[in-house]
Amino acid sequence: MAHEIRHVEMRGITKRFPGVLANDHVDLEIRAGEVLALLGENGAGKSTLMSILYGLYQPDEGEILINGQPIKITSPRVALELGIGMVHQHFMLVPTLTVAENVALGLPSPKGPLLDLKAVSQKIKEISDAYSLAVNPDSYVWQLSVGEQQRVEIVKALYRGASLLILDEPTAVLTPQEANELIALLKSMARQGRPIVFISHKLNEVMAVSDRVTVLRDGRVVATLKTSETSPQELARLMVGREMAPRVTKGQRSPGKPVLELKEVWAPSDKGTPALRGISLEVRQGEILGIAGVSGNGQKELAEVISGLRKVTRGQILLEGKNIANWPPEKIIKQGLGYIPEDRLHVGIIPSFTVWENLILKDHYLPPYAKGIFLNNSGIRSRAASLVESFGVKTPNLDTPTGRLSGGNIQRVILAREITRNPSVLVAAYPARGLDVGATEYVHLKLMEARDKGMGVLLISEDLEEIMTLSDRIAVIYEGQIMRIMDAEEAEERTLGLLMAGIRQIAS
Ligand code: ADP
Ligand code: MG
Repeated sequence: MAHEIRHVEMRGITKRFPGVLANDHVDLEIRAGEVLALLGENGAGKSTLMSILYGLYQPDEGEILINGQPIKITSPRVALELGIGMVHQHFMLVPTLTVAENVALGLPSPKGPLLDLKAVSQKIKEISDAYSLAVNPDSYVWQLSVGEQQRVEIVKALYRGASLLILDEPTAVLTPQEANELIALLKSMARQGRPIVFISHKLNEVMAVSDRVTVLRDGRVVATLKTSETSPQELARLMVGREMAPRVTKGQRSPGKPVLELKEVWAPSDKGTPALRGISLEVRQGEILGIAGVSGNGQKELAEVISGLRKVTRGQILLEGKNIANWPPEKIIKQGLGYIPEDRLHVGIIPSFTVWENLILKDHYLPPYAKGIFLNNSGIRSRAASLVESFGVKTPNLDTPTGRLSGGNIQRVILAREITRNPSVLVAAYPARGLDVGATEYVHLKLMEARDKGMGVLLISEDLEEIMTLSDRIAVIYEGQIMRIMDAEEAEERTLGLLMAGIRQIAS
């Protein structure tokens, strides 16, 4: 290790972005030998705070002490020299290079421009042995699973001499098994005397991995607690700033006839390779079918073929019995499809259009909105006003450009529009992604209401807890195929996790 970090103190750290106070006089202490969790909702200021420690941002106020010494961290290079390493949420590896090449990338080599890859590989082996981090220096990064890529990022930080490791929401892209392995690894690294900072908004994870937890809300520290002396309930309350509403509960299930059926559907990815490889499933009236899987296994393409945004090369998609495969999106909407897209800012709304325009986007040709070829302005405005009211959209007024609203409020606009059109099938792709706890609860409640009203809901999500809470049945997708479909009551997290990793045999 270049430097051993035993203690870090951040004192009174304030960071402003235009219009946002991202960190407000934050005090934080990191100690060798323990995992500190930094917990907070989206936008609470976690990444900003750790980016300051990593030298990516300069604080407007406050100071940082390492092993008791005040220090200015002016760049990531300086941070690394001090022994601080950070694994970002999005990996920064070059797929066409090997693990060893990636690890050595950007480091000065004693042999000049030619890398001494043998020496690099040797050192990688030492690191991976020391921490039981299974990585093969000679593998190409494109051959690796996401979990393996993450291990490479960790090895890379250690190779560069990191003593303190910061991981920013590291489990977001992992299967439950991979997440558990990572948690075990971090704990053992901490036990060997390293300081570890684990950023997360997931309570269970924070409970499992950390020794202490600092909770951030709206840029401020609201509490620092010993993990063993707190509970998920208390952490949730601190994180959100109020008691959590009772969880969404599933009412009696009374599924009707199938409203959406996919039969052996094939479709290519953007690159032209097959993304959907013979998908068959059905969604019935009054049920939620959850699609579980690690992102990038065909989920995006699945939502797109159903909504008409992507061409199907083989197979049938029946919406209320009509084969809508390769129909134009407008026609599919009229046939009875509601769609909450993954990309809510570009597909879900037109950001420059006003709130009222986005609310009627798909029905502007129908009464009460239209009178002949003219738009009925007062009809539209009163309808839009009542939707804003009943879906609790926080907007300055109906004429505000929708793109100016927060993510949670944009999602309310989309839900209001899609659900009140009363479609027979609602496709919801990652409907709560990036939303805070309050907005997430609201989305869940609305999906459950849609189901109880008799819509067939196809829920696509990478959040297993969300899938397990909301779904009546669960289908696991892996590399464009459905691994298994099961009743939600029978679905265990472990089985789902194995199926999500493409392992069918042992998962029973
Ligand atoms: P978290 O990691 O807890 O989700 P962030 O630290 O990313 O939160 O963000 C805290 C706040 O600062 C948010 O309101 C975010 O929009 C804002 N923010 C973060 N980075 C920037 C930036 N580079 N420019 C402007 N605003 C930013
Ligand atoms: Mg963040």
